[in-house]
This record gives sequence, C-alpha cells and structure tokens, in this order.
Amino acid sequence: MADSAPTPETARRGLILINTGPGKGKTTAALGTAMRAAGNGMRVLILQFLKGSWHYGELDAAEALNSESGSETARNFVIKQLGRGFVKVGGAETDPEDIRLVEAAWDEAAEAILSGEWDLVVLDEINYAIGYKMLAPEVVAEVLRRRPEMVHVILTGRNAHPLLVELADTVTEMREVKHAYQRGILAQRGIEF
Ligand code: ATP
Ligand code: MG
Repeated sequence: MADSAPTPETARRGLILINTGPGKGKTTAALGTAMRAAGNGMRVLILQFLKGSWHYGELDAAEALNSESGSETARNFVIKQLGRGFVKVGGAETDPEDIRLVEAAWDEAAEAILSGEWDLVVLDEINYAIGYKMLAPEVVAEVLRRRPEMVHVILTGRNAHPLLVELADTVTEMREVKHAYQRGILAQRGIEF
C-alpha cells in the first residue's frame, strides 16, 4: 500500500451533515441515513425539535426496529419528539414555553452528542429553532466541535445558519422543483407523516 494512503481504521471519523433548503426531503433523507446506520449496528438517536403534535410513521418504525434488535433492553434506534408541533414566533412574541422546550431539547441533544453513547445523532428541525432565534448557533457549534471523534450528527431544516454550514462536512440543499401542496393536495400518510 502507498505510504500516503490512510488505512481504513485511521480514516474513520464522525461527520457533520446538514440537510437544508426549501424542497421536500430533509427529514426523510436523515431518516434514510439513520436506517442505513442502524443496519450497520450503529446506535441511532433522533431528536425532533419543535415537533410534537403529529404522530409520524417513523415513531412506530423505530419501535419495530427496537423490538427486532433481540435484547429486551437494547434500544438502538430511538426517536423522540421534543416540541409541541407548532411554534409561535415573531420577535418579542415568541412564546416563552416554546423557548423553554427548545432549551430542554438542546440540553438533551448536547448531552447525547457528548456522551459517546450514540453513533449517530439526528437533530431534526433544529435549523428552524436556530432561525427563529430560540437557540444560538454558536452554542450548537461549540458542542459539535468538542464531540467524541466518531460521533456523526445530522442537522435538518431550512435556512441552515452559515456558521454551521461552515463547520459541516456535507451539506445538501433540497431544491423545490414542485410540491403536491401547491396544487392543494394535502399531506399524505406514509409520505409526509
Ligand atoms: P420531509 O419530512 O417530508 O422530508 P422536510 O423535512 O424536507 O420534509 P420540513 O420543512 O421539515 O420539510 O417540512 C415538513 C413538512 O412540510 C412535510 O410534510 C413536507 O411534505 C412539507 N414540505 C416540505 N417541503 C415543502 C414544500 N416545498 N412545499 C410544501 N410543503 C413542503
Ligand atoms: Mg423536516
């Protein structure tokens, strides 16, 4: 082997990925990656900021994956909704309850990322919480920088903050070509929730 070629072991490292942009597919792409990681025996934690009122199919899929995992106690694919499904925003009008929920969600996220107990942590919709100024991007960046080397993190939501885009390894912007909603077609089970 050439001296310059890194061995696979030394080449392994945790990545920061961002799925952003106005098109559909940010959360579902993260779920696809999460499924891929789970298939590789990795421990996956998905924390959903702001979400809480809708019951998404992935919550039940995660439970099914856990019960397939053999051990009664092993929960290696966990999704938690940490919001209430809607958020009142607009400068001073931001509901303090929503800020409290985001702060609690972030505390849980930071602890999970730094603990090394998870191989992949998905921070779903966190970009919206940052965009609504409920969470400071510097605070998120600081935790991402000092996470254990092998931990992968995916952040989703429109308008990813430039500071986090800069820090990330892989950033994908979903572009909307068209969306069923524009023709008045409502959210469909299995596709949107
Ligand atoms: P998904 O969860 O389907 O991957 P997403 O994470 O890219 O979507 P979000 O901004 O989190 O998108 O919004 C979630 C909801 O909004 C989903 O029901 C999704 O179908 C819908 N949605 C996403 N993009 C658009 C769009 N461009 N126009 C209308 N509705 C959209
Ligand atoms: Mg989403």
